[in-house]
Amino acid sequence: MLKPRPMKAAKKLKETSAPAIPQVGFVSLGCAKALVDSERILTKLRAEGYGIAPQYQGADLVIVNTCGFLDSAREESLGAIGEALAENGKVVVTGCLGAEPEVIRERYPNVLAITGPQHYEAVMDAVHQALPPLHDPYVDLLPPGGIKLTPRHYAYLKISEGCNNRCSFCIIPSMRGDLVSRNVVDVMEEAEKLASAGVKELLVVSQDTSAYGVDVKYAGGSWRGEQYRTHVTDLARALGKLGIWVRLHYVYPYPHVRDLMPLMAEGSILPYLDIPFQHASPTVLKSMRRPANQEKTAAQIASWRAACRDITLRSTFIVGFPGETDADFEFLLDWLEEVQLDRVGCFKYEDVTGAAANALEGHVPQAVKEERYARFMQAQQKISAAKLQKKIGTLQQAMVDEVSADGIVARTKADAPEIDGIIAAPRKKGVRVGDIITLEVTDADAYDLYGVHA
Ligand code: SF4
Repeated sequence: MLKPRPMKAAKKLKETSAPAIPQVGFVSLGCAKALVDSERILTKLRAEGYGIAPQYQGADLVIVNTCGFLDSAREESLGAIGEALAENGKVVVTGCLGAEPEVIRERYPNVLAITGPQHYEAVMDAVHQALPPLHDPYVDLLPPGGIKLTPRHYAYLKISEGCNNRCSFCIIPSMRGDLVSRNVVDVMEEAEKLASAGVKELLVVSQDTSAYGVDVKYAGGSWRGEQYRTHVTDLARALGKLGIWVRLHYVYPYPHVRDLMPLMAEGSILPYLDIPFQHASPTVLKSMRRPANQEKTAAQIASWRAACRDITLRSTFIVGFPGETDADFEFLLDWLEEVQLDRVGCFKYEDVTGAAANALEGHVPQAVKEERYARFMQAQQKISAAKLQKKIGTLQQAMVDEVSADGIVARTKADAPEIDGIIAAPRKKGVRVGDIITLEVTDADAYDLYGVHA
């Protein structure tokens, strides 16, 4: 599922270019997949000799990478375009909302160009027209892994575009098209480059990671002298050979997910699965048209835990979906209690322009949505707090994300950056961002851990 990212990430980049170099500002909105698109565009810009301006005022042109998933995200994207126009005046729009140029043109007829998601070349064409590059590319000035918007020690690895599913609340397939998987060798070459550029953790993202390769009939390829299929288990096996943390996101509970368990149990990839269940009631799942919708999910979860004792399960849910009855919601709460997930996010259903679910009957009143959301979060908070209490006294390996005068902010293997919890610890001489350290857990609250150096 998408997570709005209001961060103007490129503003964090340092200004490194001489003043004569054409400067491009960049505003990156949307999910991790959109962030990967932003990184690719920034890499191309730098490869062609453009500078990246940290402020609107220093930019000769601004690119806005938009999100169009929820109506609130669309509004945020339109707001960002308006801000960039007001502050700078020369704006190129790309990303998910770019798939609906009429919506943007209606409000902002004077944007320079509008391109859809992953239209990297079209974005570059628009930049060339408005702001010709000074001279030939100087690719050797690029860092080996390209430009990263995430901190240098972790990076998102996008393995496919689009989606073959048709969930009734989602418009991603109409914006991004059907599943197009990257060949496993291509993905591994990028992963290797990132690892050699200093990345310590790879976050594998797509719309449906379990479906990876189905569109190319799991075509094979050779990497480091071994054969791998374009398939999630082969990819996980190959990534496990890089010797860095590998975390899988957006995995749907298809039967072959069990084949990932041995890789997690032996430590090749992190024992962590981000599985967007969205609901538990069979009736709601059916009207959501969810992939891998099956009644035996609880049994499946139990079998994963039996195969990999330390596995962390994260998921997201939607409450107040059209037609969700009190009984459906109680079913969801009971299921949550039964399966005891580690990390959970929850959204209150909202209509998305163009989604099939808008036409469903039984839209839930806002007050009921709010109440269900509060009850859901309360129930999960109790589960999360109890689970984290059990970690007190254990030793945990943790990836350092921040070091400041106040101490260290790190993450255990159970925590993905930005969406899960942290472990806070006192500062220690010599510890730097990206280090993996060992901490003893001394305290916990509902979401975070506190530790000391072991
Ligand atoms: S799996 Fe469903 S929610 Fe996810 S991108 Fe595909 S259609 Fe949308």
